[in-house]
Amino acid sequence: MTHNTPTLSGKVVFIQGGSRGIGAAIAKRLARDGAAVALTYSQSAQHAEILVQEIQAAGGKALAIKADSASESAIRGAIQQTLSTFGQLDILVNNAGVLAIAPIEEMSMEDIDRTLSINVRSVVIASQEASKHLNDGGRIINIGSTNAERMPFAGGAVYAMSKAALVGLTKGLARDLGGRGITVNNLQPGPVDTDMNPENGEFADSLKQLMAINRYGRAEEIASFVAYLASPEAGYITGSSLMIDGGFSA
Ligand code: NDP
Repeated sequence: MTHNTPTLSGKVVFIQGGSRGIGAAIAKRLARDGAAVALTYSQSAQHAEILVQEIQAAGGKALAIKADSASESAIRGAIQQTLSTFGQLDILVNNAGVLAIAPIEEMSMEDIDRTLSINVRSVVIASQEASKHLNDGGRIINIGSTNAERMPFAGGAVYAMSKAALVGLTKGLARDLGGRGITVNNLQPGPVDTDMNPENGEFADSLKQLMAINRYGRAEEIASFVAYLASPEAGYITGSSLMIDGGFSA
């Protein structure tokens, strides 16, 4: 590798939920680091297309695929489409997630099922499908949440449960795939300024009081941690849930 070769040159990434927010920042960063990027979305076709054009205009390779993470066949189909377009798979990023906040007495069965379906079941399905194809030395990177370990307000029980499930899943998958040099990790962001959790939203001021660094994180800061975990340098980190939360859980 020459000094100027990008760290992910020749690698192929599949990002589940990559059209907006943290997922879009990850797509841009990994493309900048040299990877070909396939990303899924369920609703935001326009965001996905603009992002793909932006990556291509910067000289990168990108593909947007409409695939609802609530659908097993859509997830498996999107991974197959990535393989047929780019010819291989090296890195899976499970980013798609939803946040439903309500007192437990009032939370609908629909919201409970949807949270588990998008935040947990889709991660299992994508990991299973990707595992069949990931090259040796590959990567699975889940986007969990600091709320897996600290949920400092009411109404977030089901969301916290869904992100805590990823802690165990990550450990088990690390054991399943370690023999192939594939690492599996779970990044746990604190509040990050996105459509899901805008820095000017109703919870923002109280959340900032809970952090050692009293500001929201930027999606690009999460993406740079993902880029490190995806890189060859991070080959000895696996099974870990890693906080990137401005000290929210400190
Ligand atoms: P956003 O709501 O801003 O973006 C979510 C992304 O996931 C979009 O690209 C969206 O595309 C996609 N997505 C959502 N549902 C589906 C689905 N059913 N099928 C396919 N794609 C889907 O969220 P964030 O960027 O804020 O969050 C990303 C991840 O980070 C989530 O897992 C979230 O739980 C986690 N996180 C976020 C924090 C924050 O403060 N923002 C803090 C800690 C963790 P589309 O709209 O097209 O469906």
